[in-house]
Amino acid sequence: KLHNQVLELKGNIRVFCRVRPLIGEEIKNNGDSSDIHHINFLDERTLELCKGGDVNSSTMSGLKGRGNGHLEFTYDKVFTPCATQTEVFEEISQLVQSALDGYNVCVFAYGQTGSGKTFTMEGCPDSEELEGVITRTVRHVFTSMKELKDKGWTYTVEASFLEIYNETIRDLLVSSKEAKNLTYDIKLVDNKKNDTYVTNLKIVPVLDETQVHQLLRMAQQQRAVAATNMNEHSSRSHSVFRLKLVGENCRTSESCEGTLNLVDLAGSERLKESGSEGARLTETQNINRSLSNLGNVIMALAQKQGHIPYRNSKLTHLLQNSLGGNSKTLMFVNVSPVDLCYSETLNSLRFATKVN
Ligand code: ADP
Ligand code: MG
Repeated sequence: KLHNQVLELKGNIRVFCRVRPLIGEEIKNNGDSSDIHHINFLDERTLELCKGGDVNSSTMSGLKGRGNGHLEFTYDKVFTPCATQTEVFEEISQLVQSALDGYNVCVFAYGQTGSGKTFTMEGCPDSEELEGVITRTVRHVFTSMKELKDKGWTYTVEASFLEIYNETIRDLLVSSKEAKNLTYDIKLVDNKKNDTYVTNLKIVPVLDETQVHQLLRMAQQQRAVAATNMNEHSSRSHSVFRLKLVGENCRTSESCEGTLNLVDLAGSERLKESGSEGARLTETQNINRSLSNLGNVIMALAQKQGHIPYRNSKLTHLLQNSLGGNSKTLMFVNVSPVDLCYSETLNSLRFATKVN
């Protein structure tokens, strides 16, 4: 079973949909395909996907359709192609704030390759206007820390940045030479809170926001040296930027510990298992399984099922204490407006919708 399941979410899991603009050549080439479609923004939370041809709306379980290929999707928030990085971050700053209050937070970017996941999470760090969620999160954390200082709180901030490729963990903050003889296993922290850590992973104390640019650049270099085809590699791996925030209040003797996980997921395009063999087939199956397992975990949490299958993939195992329980989850569903992407766009829009 592939990950084109439909999650109908209630409660503490929020879903934001972001539609990217047409870029470069797409602007003049779009519109020629037989898959021509439009995305209309009905209100802050709802968009409509309109297709020229016939769409059998009876197969779209749980979704309202107006027939004639009109499908409505509701999320907690919808961002049009005009939405700026600043506007997007404004909507999640509360969530970042709650990590300083001791919550575990996960922000995911889900979508097919080319839909804007990395633009959303990392942005273009060299342009302040285009900075993504990671940089803005760190800035927000430091600004809030200054304010909380007046109330007696002091924090330490630590960052790590890893990649899960083919169910193998790689540290993005060390060179492959340094990592050569190290093994990266997920272990439980002995603190009764189900926290996990990764053996040998480099943890970097972060003292100010400019340091994060260095970390992003380092990660970028590590990805580049490891991959013969960088785009293909990044589309097949999950990257997890993790900030641990430990606070102590000298006046009240309170303490708190929160974790922020900012996750750029592997491309959600359905990879065909037929035709590939050997290592390539295993890799394809691992990617499909890992994304579908994330869906299963979120679904199990949303339905308050007793057993949550965290252990079925490295990603959910790593994040087990940041999904469910005392935690907050936000899923960006990133979609491309390109006609040729219609079926993947439809799949992504269906992946996670909100039910009331
Ligand atoms: P993904 O990580 O999902 O594969 P990217 O983030 O790399 O996709 O985006 C694909 C291309 O689209 C990149 O060139 C990126 O800069 C551009 N892009 C994505 N989202 C936006 C946006 N909201 N505004 C402008 N350009 C965008
Ligand atoms: Mg990407």
